[in-house]
Amino acid sequence: MRVRFWGTRGSIATPGPGTVRFGGNTSCVEVTTSGGACFIFDCGTGARPLGAELMAHAPKPISAVILLSHTHWDHIQGFPFFAPLFVRGNEITVCGPEGSGHSLAEVLAGQMEFTYFPVEISQLPATINFRELGEGTHDIGGARIVAQYLHHPAMALGYRIEADGAAVVYLCDHEPFSETLWHDQPASGHAESIAHEGDRRHSRFMAGAGLVIHDAQYTPEEYQSRKNWGHSTYEYAVGLAAAAGVRQLVLTHHDPTHDDAFVEAIETRARGYAEQHGYAMRIGCAYEGLDLVVEPHSVPQLAGTPPAPHSDRDAPRGSHILVVDDDADIRILVHKALSRDGHVVSEASTGQEALASIDAQAPDLLVLDLEMPTQGGLEVLTLLRSRPATAALPVLVLTALDDEVNTRAGFDLGATDYLTKPFSIPQLAARVRTCLLRRA
Ligand SMILES: [Zn+2]
Ligand SMILES: [Zn+2]
Repeated sequence: MRVRFWGTRGSIATPGPGTVRFGGNTSCVEVTTSGGACFIFDCGTGARPLGAELMAHAPKPISAVILLSHTHWDHIQGFPFFAPLFVRGNEITVCGPEGSGHSLAEVLAGQMEFTYFPVEISQLPATINFRELGEGTHDIGGARIVAQYLHHPAMALGYRIEADGAAVVYLCDHEPFSETLWHDQPASGHAESIAHEGDRRHSRFMAGAGLVIHDAQYTPEEYQSRKNWGHSTYEYAVGLAAAAGVRQLVLTHHDPTHDDAFVEAIETRARGYAEQHGYAMRIGCAYEGLDLVVEPHSVPQLAGTPPAPHSDRDAPRGSHILVVDDDADIRILVHKALSRDGHVVSEASTGQEALASIDAQAPDLLVLDLEMPTQGGLEVLTLLRSRPATAALPVLVLTALDDEVNTRAGFDLGATDYLTKPFSIPQLAARVRTCLLRRA
């Protein structure tokens, strides 16, 4: 596979003398297989020069598959300027995560309404197909594409393309599930040492890849004041990629406030961090024009993913969710947020109340606090898992306890997911949808 970078910037396009080297265009990466299939990760402003290149040099008519991580602006703003859309006979398939509130077609049409753009999407001459994807394995454009939900304040998907005897993985935008990444024992750098099930799943998704393209927007120092914004540090990306046996890691989604010197310093620090930990892996920061060939390697097919999961439908709305927390403010906040998403929400302030409510109402999902008087959340979870009727009930733990011991205990006792306070509403909404979709 050949991989070319057309947009490496996160959040907003950042042209100017300070970004000449690493580039100012937002996210867009082209992947071409030896059979000539063209995949495009995200459609930020980098999609404009890519479109021009395809118009000039690609075989006609042009056929391409766009794999959108999500529909935040920096990942779709290049779409209206992607020249192949303006030529009859070209065929563009747009894939993106289901469950974002509106359909993919509606969201892309929205940014092209006359208020914002002179040409409406319905006026584009090319054939445009939309395909909403869930987590799992898909056969698209002759390649095996595996998708997995990321941790971002929106429904977002990471992609793994397996073709030509190699795997290329794209993971933007994403932030750590847990600040405590590694167990104390055994040593860091191994998949089994990752504390949070979400981070472990994220690492497994990269397994043996020839190339991983990963969000690394912040330095570890910056991340302290940017938690819940949905982006990673180089330390996180390097650590998880090393645990997954990745051969080459390219860091991207550079912050708009980082000039070339800053991004170069991140590259140096990332390499130093890997060296210090004995990780053998090529590491670099993405720049516009970076052109890589990923040679065939012994790539494991990602196991354990369903063959063809729920596609072409929205996240389950109208689910019944029970919120269990002794803090009334949290209950109100969660209740409001999830009701707005179309769910039916009920509340319990103690473990006993929760168990009675579960017996009476059989909710679809539980949002469970850990620290409650008389009966704590871990005790409730243990009870639920011991009863056949609730053994598989999705439980999203929502707690202020973010240490390794409690995180591990939550997962060991059967938590579906573990989210720590303080949290943001879009983040909670995305995690709830992910739990419900995985259950479906
Ligand atoms: Zn972004
Ligand atoms: Zn985003």
